[in-house]
Amino acid sequence: MLCGKSQLRAEIVTVGEELLSGRTVNTNASWIACSLRGLGIRVVRITTVGDDVDEIASAIREALARADIIVTSGGLGPTPDDLTLEGIARGLGRGLRLNEEALELVKKRYKAMVRRGLVAKVSLTKARTKMATLPEGSKPLPNPVGTALGVVLEREGKLIVGLPGVPAEMKAIFKESVIPLLQARVSRAIPECELTARLAGILESDLAPLLEKVLRRYPDVYVKSHPKGCEAESRIDLYVRATGETKDEARRRAEKVLSFLKNLIVERGGRAECT
Ligand code: ATP
Ligand code: MG
Repeated sequence: MLCGKSQLRAEIVTVGEELLSGRTVNTNASWIACSLRGLGIRVVRITTVGDDVDEIASAIREALARADIIVTSGGLGPTPDDLTLEGIARGLGRGLRLNEEALELVKKRYKAMVRRGLVAKVSLTKARTKMATLPEGSKPLPNPVGTALGVVLEREGKLIVGLPGVPAEMKAIFKESVIPLLQARVSRAIPECELTARLAGILESDLAPLLEKVLRRYPDVYVKSHPKGCEAESRIDLYVRATGETKDEARRRAEKVLSFLKNLIVERGGRAECT
């Protein structure tokens, strides 16, 4: 519905034919979206594209036109279907170059695998150097649990973060390297507060005019209803998000909106329990 405009905006681009075919459930998108929200960053779009350089490039270009932060997942590994680095480079109009820092990280990872007896020797094959061949201007992000590196690069103050598809690797890099990068940007962002209420005894269609009333009175507050029950037993989760000069002010505004709405619901014979 409505939301404060000056919050940082992010887009997520997930890459992989297996996501389009439905063979793999896109859990990375929801995990990344929740994590970004937890940092106070608003996700404005999630796109999924196949293993195709032009598709990836156009998704990146479109995302750059709308968002401050773009996070991709998938397609960073050594196989020919891993094309995200090429797609990001093409989307930004940059070349791909062997990155020495990335090559060292790849070597380190294979050395550790040699020590554990998982591979015979650290030979830098074409497939392995591919993971260190990054779009110009990239910085590699170490992968503490696998070999495909993450990458981060900037374009006119916007941040593009590339993460591998394997969920455990994506999460490890996000927690270790991406959160600190984003926190530095979020500290300059607008404080916000989100409150949740559980509603019962009111149908969504009867709630709709009450929400309209709320939005007319508080136009810069975000209010969203999620129906959870059924016709016979209506249950609705309601989210109210407000921004303010400080976190406390944002909280006070969200509470005020929720209490206004709660009164309207009770007048109609419904129940609202804030959580
Ligand atoms: P790797 O080097 O490990 O191959 P990668 O970045 O190339 O990393 P992909 O090849 O795209 O990753 O995906 C590896 C596996 O991760 C896929 O087979 C799939 O099981 C899983 N995966 C990929 N994308 C997602 C996603 N969005 N949500 C959940 N799982 C995913
Ligand atoms: Mg792969």
